[in-house]
Amino acid sequence: MSKIVVEKVAKSKIDEVDFSCLEFGQVFSDHMFVCTYKDGEWQNPKIMPYSPFCLDPASSVFHYGQAVFEGMKAYKDDKGAIFLFRPEQNYQRMAKSCQRLSMAQFPTDLFDQGLKELVKTDRQWIKPGRGNALYLRPFMISTSKNLQVETSQEYLFSIIASPVQSYYSADVKVLIADHYSRAANGGFGFAKAAGNYAGQLYPTTLAQQKGYNQIIWTDDTSHERLEECGTMNVMFRIKDKLITSPTSERILDGVTRKSIIEVAKKLNIEMEIRPITIHELVEAANNKTLKEIFGCGTAAVISPVSAFNYKGVEYEVSTPEQTYGQKIKDFILDIQYNICQDPFGWRVEVK
Ligand SMILES: *Cc1c(COP(=O)(O)O)cnc(C)c1O
Repeated sequence: MSKIVVEKVAKSKIDEVDFSCLEFGQVFSDHMFVCTYKDGEWQNPKIMPYSPFCLDPASSVFHYGQAVFEGMKAYKDDKGAIFLFRPEQNYQRMAKSCQRLSMAQFPTDLFDQGLKELVKTDRQWIKPGRGNALYLRPFMISTSKNLQVETSQEYLFSIIASPVQSYYSADVKVLIADHYSRAANGGFGFAKAAGNYAGQLYPTTLAQQKGYNQIIWTDDTSHERLEECGTMNVMFRIKDKLITSPTSERILDGVTRKSIIEVAKKLNIEMEIRPITIHELVEAANNKTLKEIFGCGTAAVISPVSAFNYKGVEYEVSTPEQTYGQKIKDFILDIQYNICQDPFGWRVEVK
């Protein structure tokens, strides 16, 4: 097993950071993890001061976009112990993304070691308190220096870290996609690939111009099945039932989504995993049985939606005082911050 070299900064920049008003992904910690792939092997894994990369302009990522990433968090409890949440899920998903984008596989044990070493090195960047976390962004890009359209022979794997606070997104309204798609059958919607995000930006900007924060993505053929919300998975509560689409090659298999499914079971919330269409949603909104819509992902855990627009008509969600979303979020946060027992074995302490 390759030994990870740790090169520390001369002076931490942590004193320059105001931890009471952090915007998502704006500030980065002192260090980063870097490892390069060349001549068929991963080389020189190291923790080093956070700094720019120097890349050849012909690096294939700039032209053909082999780029994948992950998103996860490190949490600190009141005694200063540090935890990750189901990290093995992210390792596995990165492997799937790399396979689909025809990229080299990054060894799971090295991923695990590098991530934990970075978290330990920058442990003072993790503040205790619910909502505070160190957001971890592993990513990989192709770096072969030539313009031939072919699988790259060289890669850069890195992890950067950014202190975050949970943000309370007020009154999120969404537009139901009836033309654009984020993913298609046979495509790579299930991969956490940079290209999926690039393709979402323009339709999302158009939605924002109409006064909507996000798009609920539908299947690319009928535009009837409700599949994702912005860059999150999505769930609907009709009467007292929580409904979410099964994952497919168009839908990203979110760690938050699959955790919510298990937590709902534990809390005796009825959960259905089946396709759900816009027609069902419109009907439920009209007869006031649509109680909740929420996006789910690592950044916010749960992000409630207050209204949706379908083909020019706006529909309200009749959200009750006590929501399933909040109840499930509280349960998950309690596990993440080591406040309650972890019946699922999801918490992983970083020692
Ligand atoms: C990352 C992501 C999610 C959420 O995944 P989590 O593992 O829960 O953070 C959902 N949909 C898309 C498209 C994503 O990129």
